[in-house]
Amino acid sequence: MSKRVIIKQDVVDGLLSYCRNFHPREAILLVRGKKLKDEIQINALMIPPLPVHSETFTSFPIHMLPIDPSILGTAHSHPNGVLRPSLEDLNNYFGRVMLIIGFPYMSKNDISVFDREGNRAVFTVI
Ligand SMILES: [Zn+2]
Repeated sequence: MSKRVIIKQDVVDGLLSYCRNFHPREAILLVRGKKLKDEIQINALMIPPLPVHSETFTSFPIHMLPIDPSILGTAHSHPNGVLRPSLEDLNNYFGRVMLIIGFPYMSKNDISVFDREGNRAVFTVI
């Protein structure tokens, strides 16, 4: 990813606790913030409309989303702890960033950020 990714500390905390609550099912959230010229700032979380959660998959109807440029992408959990997008994740990529939060959801080391091609992006927590 060519842009720097910045994630607010309270977003990190919110993601980790949300995913812990859903375990062993997958959790899914939308991430919101600002896209600047060379930086993506993630500063809020949003529950998507009509989310479906199971142990192997999670989704929501993308057509139900409001047209909102502050929605930057999605975040979902991998209860198996694998911090890599599945083929299905990449095929259903939405937005500009995809965050994957892996079990045990304890720290930012359990979070990875990926671009549309599945490349891992370095991120900074502020
Ligand atoms: Zn996934």
